[in-house]
Amino acid sequence: MTKAVAIGIDLGGTNCRGALVSQNGQVSGWRSVETDSTTDLAVFLKGLTDFCQELRTAAIEMGLDVVGVGCGAAGVVDPSGQVRSAPNLQLLNNFDLQNHLQQELDSAALVINDANAIAWGEFRYGGGQAFDSFLTITLGTGVGGGLILHRQLWQGKCGGAGEIGHLAVEVEGRPCGCGSHGCLEQYASGQGILRNFQELGSDKLGKILDTFGLADLARHGDPLAQRAFDLAGRYLGQVIAGVANLLNLEGVLFAGGLSGCFDLLQPSLEQELAQRAFAVNRQQLHLVRSCLDDRAGILGAASLLFDRLEHR
Ligand SMILES: [Zn+2]
Repeated sequence: MTKAVAIGIDLGGTNCRGALVSQNGQVSGWRSVETDSTTDLAVFLKGLTDFCQELRTAAIEMGLDVVGVGCGAAGVVDPSGQVRSAPNLQLLNNFDLQNHLQQELDSAALVINDANAIAWGEFRYGGGQAFDSFLTITLGTGVGGGLILHRQLWQGKCGGAGEIGHLAVEVEGRPCGCGSHGCLEQYASGQGILRNFQELGSDKLGKILDTFGLADLARHGDPLAQRAFDLAGRYLGQVIAGVANLLNLEGVLFAGGLSGCFDLLQPSLEQELAQRAFAVNRQQLHLVRSCLDDRAGILGAASLLFDRLEHR
């Protein structure tokens, strides 16, 4: 059995999770910390490198060799590992995170967009193994996307590909953190669905803690809660129909914390898809849910690091 592991990190706006990942996808030593993105950059980076060191110490105690760090970060990350734009982690804007981790940890490092890491994790170890070309949509705090085309991760020229959450679905829609307005994310993310509920005129929002509470309400028959999810499903269907017509993919895989609410989104999503996509493109498009839960991003980032080290 191989003793080589990579430190896999999933760095988000509110949480940083990490684990040790072997080349065949075994995960051990899970841990997570809250990320304080309002602090200054030096403090933030110290927290991140301490977190990696902690995992490295855990690996040594388990008799494992750490080959480096693979990190999925919430933001547009260019192929050199520099964070170009991070609306939810703004202190990392234009920061060369990959180089920083390499220097500070004195080991190999790879930084990639978090949704792309998830797509690759699904392709290597999850539901994406069934496809050559598919889109992963991550539903959670935001709406992210990662494209696998012909068994390769498609990141675009400077790492900005796959931003499905920022395709416009409403011409005069809600303003978005990306600077545009009417983006899918504003209607189909956790916050977006809560806002749908509010704008439909429900007076129950104050009693609802989060989207999961709203999902409970919808499953118990509350018509406005159901319509809030229906609306999100319709917008998702609208965008997926466009993607199906553009790329004729084999599958769309739903990941992220809110993919557990997919049953509430699916009916209106499929209806919209049926109305808008070319029949031939829709009929062979499989809609599947992730079975890796929150491991996909960590697995994907670690796996990409192993690949890079192998091809050196
Ligand atoms: Zn946007």
